[in-house]
Amino acid sequence: MTSIAIHLSTAVQELLGPDNTRQVTGTSLAGGRCQDCRSPLPLHGPVNVVVWQDQDSVVIGFTHPDCGTSQVRLLPAGTLATAAPAAVPMQLAAVLQNHGSRALPVLAVQPVLQAMTATEVGGPADRNILVGALAAAGMTTDIDFVRAPEPLLSWPVTITPAGPGKATICVRMPSGHLLVDGVARLSPAWRDAANRHGRCVLYVGYGLWDPDIATPDAHSLNTQAKDVAGARLRLLGATRRG
Ligand SMILES: [Zn+2]
Repeated sequence: MTSIAIHLSTAVQELLGPDNTRQVTGTSLAGGRCQDCRSPLPLHGPVNVVVWQDQDSVVIGFTHPDCGTSQVRLLPAGTLATAAPAAVPMQLAAVLQNHGSRALPVLAVQPVLQAMTATEVGGPADRNILVGALAAAGMTTDIDFVRAPEPLLSWPVTITPAGPGKATICVRMPSGHLLVDGVARLSPAWRDAANRHGRCVLYVGYGLWDPDIATPDAHSLNTQAKDVAGARLRLLGATRRG
């Protein structure tokens, strides 16, 4: 087996401890993206490990050597768990999915990075910080991808045109903090369905689709994904025509 060149600075190793350091150096880079330039990582490295840390949590990411050094980046207390999941790079997709007989507009959001709690440092990685925070804010983890998730939330959503067939989509949490702010391909059919229903389905979680798929559609969604929170979102005049 070829060893993968994953570099951790001394500061990062001291923060993570020996067990997590070993776990990180054994991480598969397949499907991984550079947290700074968002391009795919080389399968066998070299990559540098970047850790975001706040009072409660750490999130681990990778960069190309040319994009960033291995370092600890400090965040304000509570940022990762409750305040601003958008501190973690996210991918965003707007797809039409058949729920029963209806095609519902779906926003799917997946983090590019893995998260683990500081209390778990030295123990197994916990990817559920984000999902737990979203459930605490009103989303559900009872997801079957066949029916729309039950909670109907009025979180602020804005969808604004961003060039042909694309839109900037911004979703805030009730706290006012940003959940996601990104550009997605948005079909006229999605827009029509959103206007008709006045709401969309939101899924946020890990492994929702292959991050290398440039334009995910409903068939790209992994309905076996486990660490996912879902809800319906009201779209009150959110989808302006452009
Ligand atoms: Zn890069």
